[in-house]
Amino acid sequence: MYYIKKTLKITVVSVILIFVIFVSKYKPMYKVTLAGETVGYVTSKKDVEKTINDYINTKDGNIAFVEVANMPEYEFNLVEWSKEDSTEEVLQKVKDESLVTYRVFAIKLAGETKEYVSKIEEAEQVIVDLKKEFEGILDLDISIEEMFVSDISEIHSIDMQVAKNNLDTEIIENCDSAINGVILSKPIKGIITSRFGSRWGRQHEGIDIAANEGTPIYACSKGTVEYCGEYYGYGNLVIINHGNGIQTYYGHCSKIYVSKGQEVTRDTIIAAVGSTGNSTGPHLHLEIRKNGKVQNPQNYLYK
Ligand SMILES: [Zn+2]
Repeated sequence: MYYIKKTLKITVVSVILIFVIFVSKYKPMYKVTLAGETVGYVTSKKDVEKTINDYINTKDGNIAFVEVANMPEYEFNLVEWSKEDSTEEVLQKVKDESLVTYRVFAIKLAGETKEYVSKIEEAEQVIVDLKKEFEGILDLDISIEEMFVSDISEIHSIDMQVAKNNLDTEIIENCDSAINGVILSKPIKGIITSRFGSRWGRQHEGIDIAANEGTPIYACSKGTVEYCGEYYGYGNLVIINHGNGIQTYYGHCSKIYVSKGQEVTRDTIIAAVGSTGNSTGPHLHLEIRKNGKVQNPQNYLYK
């Protein structure tokens, strides 16, 4: 009985001793393989799985979905204490081998993609703003298309304001009635009776557009009234400054409806067609000046 007890005691002590030695030398870890290739060892399988799961379900920014090529496989192992945890490497490899797809909204002008924005609401707002800005000037063929892309670095602008400004510039640059960033529209409807250039040995500094006496004259673009009143051969003259060095002149008016310093838009009726000054019949004498120099109005209007 005594011997049995002693033997048992020795056995227990030995087991404990072996266990202690073992534990001091080995620890439990998971060997991680990706598509059959060993990537490393991790202490917490749960943490790695959770991180990958969170990554797959990321909905940050423009991420539409994340596809992980290979999910890790885990194998329980007892490894030496010196074995380092490679959770970071495992996660990095999973990310490197995954495909991220982004959702963006393309804004198209005449069917051609010009800009991208990140949200549909932003794309719609850009279109509303632009349509309002060019209302009555240009019929914008502008549309939105939802797009999925894998490389967002090529999307040069996803900020709404930037996209709007770029589109603005693009539209103006490609608009053949624009001069120095100012889009002009016809101030009246009528027949051109005299063109720009030499006329009877004199320089005609604008074009003459015949119309009935009293026909409303609209401003060619938004701007500020710089001059209004009688001015030599021009008769009743209105000069509008549109900024960017652009001015428009409206001569021979029968009536003037604006005053100096007044802000006008292309919807403002500034005057009425007449025959004041050096004129033989009711018509509008229209001039366009760029940095003070007369331009041929028919390069922009009444082509
Ligand atoms: Zn004239």
